Amino acid sequence: MNILETISVQCPSCGEVMELQVDCEEGNQEITEECPVCDKPVTIAITISDNGVSSVEILAD
Ligand SMILES: [Zn+2]
Repeated sequence: MNILETISVQCPSCGEVMELQVDCEEGNQEITEECPVCDKPVTIAITISDNGVSSVEILAD
């Protein structure tokens, strides 16, 4: 499995698609990224399995 995986996340406010790198060795994680278009924070919950990223969920405010 790749240690670093790239995921695409769509901003729930403006629809901008952001690409993020995820370090799979850190296990399940929550990342907050500021949208480059509308400046709103987007919180993403990432679940890691043995094969890498298994799910990406955008958490609503
Ligand atoms: Zn946005």
